[in-house]
Amino acid sequence: MDGTVDMEKIVGEYGMQAEEKFQGNGQKLRLITDNVPAFIAYVDSDLHYRFSNKSYENWLGKSSKDVIGKHVKDVLGDEAYPIQKERYASVLSGKRVNFEYSLRFSDNKEHYISGSFVPDISDDGEVKGFFVLGTDITERKQAEEQLQIAAAAFETGDGMMITDSEGAILRVNHAFTIITGYTAEEAVGKNPRFLQSGRHNKAFFAAMWESINSTGQWQGEIFDQRKNGEVYPKWLTISAVKDDNDNTTHYVGSHSDITVRKQAEERIRKLAFYDPLTELPNRALFQDRLRQAMTASGRDGRHGALLLIDLDNFKTLNDTRGHATGDKLLKSIAQRLDNTLREGDTVSRLGGDEFMILLPGLSTVKQDAAIVAGKVAEKVRLSISQSDSFGSISHHSTASIGVTLFSGNESSIDDLMKRADLAMYKSKSCGRNTIYFFDPAMETALLKRITLEADLRLAIQENQFLIHYQAQVDNKGRVTGAEALVRWMHPEKGMISPADFIPLAEETGQILLVGQWILEAACARLAEWATRPKMAHLTISVNVSAKQFFQGDFVDQVLTILKDTGANPGRLKLELTESALVENVEGIIETMLALKTRGVRFSLDDFGTGYSSLSYLSRLPLEQLKIDLCFVRDMLADKNAAAIAKAIVGLGESLDMEVMAEGIETKSQQEFLARIGCHRYQGYLYSRPIPAEKFEELCDESLACTSWRVD
Ligand code: C2E
Ligand code: CA
Ligand code: CA
Repeated sequence: MDGTVDMEKIVGEYGMQAEEKFQGNGQKLRLITDNVPAFIAYVDSDLHYRFSNKSYENWLGKSSKDVIGKHVKDVLGDEAYPIQKERYASVLSGKRVNFEYSLRFSDNKEHYISGSFVPDISDDGEVKGFFVLGTDITERKQAEEQLQIAAAAFETGDGMMITDSEGAILRVNHAFTIITGYTAEEAVGKNPRFLQSGRHNKAFFAAMWESINSTGQWQGEIFDQRKNGEVYPKWLTISAVKDDNDNTTHYVGSHSDITVRKQAEERIRKLAFYDPLTELPNRALFQDRLRQAMTASGRDGRHGALLLIDLDNFKTLNDTRGHATGDKLLKSIAQRLDNTLREGDTVSRLGGDEFMILLPGLSTVKQDAAIVAGKVAEKVRLSISQSDSFGSISHHSTASIGVTLFSGNESSIDDLMKRADLAMYKSKSCGRNTIYFFDPAMETALLKRITLEADLRLAIQENQFLIHYQAQVDNKGRVTGAEALVRWMHPEKGMISPADFIPLAEETGQILLVGQWILEAACARLAEWATRPKMAHLTISVNVSAKQFFQGDFVDQVLTILKDTGANPGRLKLELTESALVENVEGIIETMLALKTRGVRFSLDDFGTGYSSLSYLSRLPLEQLKIDLCFVRDMLADKNAAAIAKAIVGLGESLDMEVMAEGIETKSQQEFLARIGCHRYQGYLYSRPIPAEKFEELCDESLACTSWRVD
């Protein structure tokens, strides 16, 4: 009800245009006006209240006696009076004033009032006072505010949609349009079904409605389709709005686009299970798939295969061309491997230059499964064996591949991976770029190796080593020295050749201790020989492995041993192999020079089998080159071997280094070598490696061995 209109009626009815009429009809008027919710009051031209009804007084929170006869300023207080002051002036000038304002009374709640001041003008035009007519609109204001809040809330970043109880869309917000691509005009009136992507089946929606109907709500991830056709994931909440009788009147759907979150989740998943460089599954994911494949194989009886692939010479590429190039190669190979395989196979990068392939679901017949695995391995080998070019660099890759089959869960994952590893190592040691199948003999070999390693540890403690000496002679047949060759006297297995345990000792690091012992023994022997007139001039050549040579304190070690044994450094010759000399040339030269200044000499062993660069060969303080025995063995029958032998002699001459040939077994080999200019010899022809005492006897007789002479 609009209080203003009603009051004017009342005013008209009672003809209250003069103060006197008030007095006469006061009682009646009060009775009537006290029963309307509107505020009614009369203020005279001096701004004193002359009349007020109950509603007005209640609103002010005052009783009649605190209002009537009082000045508006005193009644309304300091807060309201300044707001109304100008309006009083206006109404007293004869104009009607409408207003709306809010006030805080002692209850500290905001009260809104909407009202009018109506001037009371006498017949002669004089303004005698004015009526105050108003209503409390606090509730209406609050409702309006609620609506504003609701409207603002509706316009959030989440897509919102309100449907009627039948599901027809009534309203959507701006975010809905941004996310779905549909404008409000396009959406309103439609059923939200038009947003579906087709990715969910009937059962999915049935479950959704079941939840809405029973609990009033559903929440979950759903794939919808945007107007542009793109399918995207969103997080959707649907709530039913019910009336007082529990009947659903509306549904409110709110959704957020979770594409970005999904992408982040996907990235995290990738980091955990995929190799970031090649994007192939990593070891963890691979093992998981292997586990599944083993279980499946246990069920259906089909065999599976594991292929372990290790690139040959990848380290060299990485070291010489940089890691960026290495990375490019790995990526390119990952791509090629991926392209080679069927769907259902898994290729994974285990780390470094190692890849592993899982072929599940092969034949139930082991033989047939092996044939297929072999064919795939060959395809893989060929796909890797290609040239890649990186800018101006061209690199030809090859790989060593190990294959093993599995059936069910009969072996553990660890064992399977170990077997593939063993087979791969077999490929590596058999010239690379090949494929080997695991066979149990490899495990036996591994076992042997493990025992050997343990035995070797014991051998060091129990000093089971001894040294044999092999004579080195000149063209007059005179013994000039000996090569110290280590022997392992195994308590059960007898004599073990260094070819069988030195590589293992190098791998395990045990060579450091063994090597030091050999040096000590050889130097002690030198010192002993120095006291014998017939042997004082002899040198001893000691083989030094790369690991030993690269120890930081190698120079000190050698010097200490020389000092402790009292051996003449000038009689000690250290044999290095070419493979020891490929890295850190400056460091090598430094170490060699430090020893050379003390008189120690150096020989380059197995020369011709490695990859020495001639440019730095000339910078090394070497005294001797040893032609590898394979050239000596072959040179009489093989032109290439002969040519190499000749070239080495020529090289020695031009670099001013002595050339010694080793492995000479026949007189004709010696004669050939003499003809091409090689005058230092070592081999079975003169003597096998023999114990020191035997060697000493040999030296006593050596002058008699004139058959060695070649003049
Ligand atoms: P290497 O340094 O090239 O030693 C020469 C090898 O050729 C020796 O084998 C020797 O017995 C053998 N040999 C000598 N003359 C002939 C011959 O006329 N015909 C044939 N067929 N072979 C001959 P060994 O003693 O079995 O040593 C094998 C390898 O083990 C050595 O090759 C060397 O690389 C390593 N080695 C031996 N002793 C030591 C050592 O004390 N320290 C280190 N680090 N390595 C050693
Ligand atoms: Ca040697
Ligand atoms: Ca050699």
